[in-house]
Amino acid sequence: MEMEYQMKIKESEEQQATENYNESCSCGGIMVPMYDEYPTWLKFCSTCDTRSENTDVSPILEPV
Ligand SMILES: [Zn+2]
Repeated sequence: MEMEYQMKIKESEEQQATENYNESCSCGGIMVPMYDEYPTWLKFCSTCDTRSENTDVSPILEPV
């Protein structure tokens, strides 16, 4: 039971860290979503055009 509880907390922390990372670019610009429908999937920097993809939330289903 204790193991399950710790794993849930870890997942929550990782999710927050990913969201924070995608908000800003290393150039100092801001990462903005490419698609309003999938704000957490593809983002690009409005300053240097760097793109960031979070494959974990991709709406595209790849064949196994
Ligand atoms: Zn940038």
